[in-house]
Amino acid sequence: MRALVKTGPGEGLELQRVKKPEPGHNDVLIKIRKTAICGTDVHIWKWDEWAARTIPAPMVVGHEYVGEVVAVGQEVRGFQVGDRVSGEGHVTCGFCRNCRAGRRHLCRNTVGVGVNRPGCFADYLAIPAFNAFKIPDGIEDDLAAIFDPFGNAAHTALSFDLVGEDVLITGAGPIGIMAVAIARHAGARHVVITDVNPYRLGLAEKMGATRAVNVLERGLPEVMAELGMTEGFDVGLEMSGAPRAFESMLENMNHGGRVALLGIPPKSTAIDWNHVIFKGLVIKGIYGREMFETWYKMTAMLQSGLDIRPVITHRFPVEEYALGFEAMIGGQSGKVILDWSA
Ligand code: NAD
Ligand code: ZN
Repeated sequence: MRALVKTGPGEGLELQRVKKPEPGHNDVLIKIRKTAICGTDVHIWKWDEWAARTIPAPMVVGHEYVGEVVAVGQEVRGFQVGDRVSGEGHVTCGFCRNCRAGRRHLCRNTVGVGVNRPGCFADYLAIPAFNAFKIPDGIEDDLAAIFDPFGNAAHTALSFDLVGEDVLITGAGPIGIMAVAIARHAGARHVVITDVNPYRLGLAEKMGATRAVNVLERGLPEVMAELGMTEGFDVGLEMSGAPRAFESMLENMNHGGRVALLGIPPKSTAIDWNHVIFKGLVIKGIYGREMFETWYKMTAMLQSGLDIRPVITHRFPVEEYALGFEAMIGGQSGKVILDWSA
């Protein structure tokens, strides 16, 4: 089969012929139709320090996909050949305390598809059936292919009650942009998003942001005054990983505000803890998606009118994968889809 392989140290990926995976007794084999490129894949492409330390090259990478079940292991229940599925990229152990309590997203033994084990940038992917998620008819392939990052946005945004609240999102990457639409859909009042990239701020506007603020040009206090916000934001969703963005979030939260952190800051990032303490802020870290509560919520939100289609800005046949990575690296993109069906 064809696969995008990290062959060894250095930049890039190679489209190669590799052996088709064999599904185990508890696995499904998925014929991949479409995949999407994640920021993680860009780290792997660039072969930065994290990738060099983490990726067991040579390995097939990728973890955002939609495809069709073409084989099921003998122990598998609930899936059939022909099912259209996406899948949870975190493979959990099933025996740690959190797994056994149904909190799979908190598994301490999580293994990442396309990070620690072979991924989906290939004609076929074998994963535990537990990780597969059936996509209802009516949800198009392109959207099903981005359920993983959409799930990051949904898990983060739905961590706190948003109804009637003023929400600050820092970072208008693909995930922040989707969070805008989710916050709107869930009933937030003002949804303000920040970035330093005008292209991405434009996408955030299309997704329904009340204000998309270029922090190189204007400060949040000015925007808040314009919106008649006299006290501060009720909910903060940190989706940039930029220390300065988190700092400005803490500065502009109302007392009693709730903050969810998805963005991954550099190690030992310092903050002014006085904001946290004297404002009585609640801070929650977010990793991955809740299995599978987040997946049901995503499906239901799409079925009840949530529109995240503007986040997909580029589509390429897989042979042109290098153009896809170029678009991601250039920052003039939302989500980039690679089509394997041809
Ligand atoms: P991304 O890198 O595409 O987006 C981050 C955005 O932040 C960029 O558009 C960048 O221009 C913007 N930014 C930079 N400096 C800023 C500043 N000072 N103020 C506001 N915005 C600023 O990333 P993404 O794919 O949308 O993911 C968002 C974040 O979530 C990343 O940090 C990523 O590593 C992280 N992530 C975490 C998880 C998890 O499970 N915790 C999963 C996926 C992604
Ligand atoms: Zn576990």
